[in-house]
Amino acid sequence: PLTTADLIEEHRICVCVRKRPLNKKELSMKDLDVITIPSKDVVMVHEPKQKVDLTRYLENQTFRFDYAFDDSTTNEMVYRFTARPLVETIFERGMATCFAYGQTGSGKTHTMGGDFSGKNQDCSKGIYALAARDVFLMLKKPSYKKLDLQVYATFFEIYSGKVFDLLNRKAKLRVLEDGKQQVQVVGLQEKEVKCTEDVLKLIEVGNSCRTSGQTSANAHSSRSHAVFQIILRRKGKMHGKFSLIDLAGNERGADTSSADRQTRLEGAEINKSLLALKECIRALGRNKPHTPFRASKLTQVLRDSFIGENSRTCMVSPLSLAINTCEINLNDLFSFFSPD
Ligand code: ADP
Ligand code: MG
Repeated sequence: PLTTADLIEEHRICVCVRKRPLNKKELSMKDLDVITIPSKDVVMVHEPKQKVDLTRYLENQTFRFDYAFDDSTTNEMVYRFTARPLVETIFERGMATCFAYGQTGSGKTHTMGGDFSGKNQDCSKGIYALAARDVFLMLKKPSYKKLDLQVYATFFEIYSGKVFDLLNRKAKLRVLEDGKQQVQVVGLQEKEVKCTEDVLKLIEVGNSCRTSGQTSANAHSSRSHAVFQIILRRKGKMHGKFSLIDLAGNERGADTSSADRQTRLEGAEINKSLLALKECIRALGRNKPHTPFRASKLTQVLRDSFIGENSRTCMVSPLSLAINTCEINLNDLFSFFSPD
């Protein structure tokens, strides 16, 4: 199988995929599953058929990742193997980033933001909330307690190349870069948080702000990147930062043929920013002199999280289950890590 392992070692990056269960509609349409996860790090794409002969799985298209989570995996499990280790990073003065990358409807928001419908209370938490919970647990450890760290959160959205503060009624914000290439989102609200409940409230506020778009709620949120950050400060100075990002849907093609100019522009902007993200991730650890951070707002804003010795990244890619897109998506995911 293709493997990302060597590159990951070098790039301080962890890449995993997650299969979601078929939903009611898919089941009622008798959609068939084309993805099998035969071991904890392999994804296999095959013709839709009920029973897969695992002894012959190499004849199918297979892909290897750090982790491949099957459809019985909870958010807590996904979190434990992806973002959890990065919580340590920010306590050790590092920068951590966790991306959810995939098609609209694959489960990015479910994984990151969680499910606030109140349907299932305890399984509702996504990676944002689980990371926050562990930040507060870590703060209680004697070695960190004595540092007297404060915790802050920000939550913003990047839509069509513009930044909006989800914790301040979607105020439009400017991004400035000083002579030393320090990037600042001017006026971004940083809210102090004292416990997990404080964070949950902010996530809820931000989410409701996010989904009140001009067009249909879902359509809007799937066309923007949402960035939730947990920042540790010591005596006012930044100690560590964790950026958790629910990326815009990576589907292509459909937009370019659309007659609607606005939709086409949005699509072009999303492609541009995901491509810039890909370039920046590819440049990680390769000592490239010119990483194209400025190529999009997303990468510009995340610049400080990519550079420096102590930065770590993980990518969670929920998989679309349709045969004609999941293979394209898996190859696309691999293109982030393949050599030049
Ligand atoms: P995206 O943000 O990628 O567009 P969502 O997170 O909104 O996708 O997921 C689409 C739908 O599928 C939602 O109704 C969500 O609750 C459901 N879903 C996604 N992932 C899972 C999962 N692992 N288990 C159960 N339901 C899921
Ligand atoms: Mg979403």
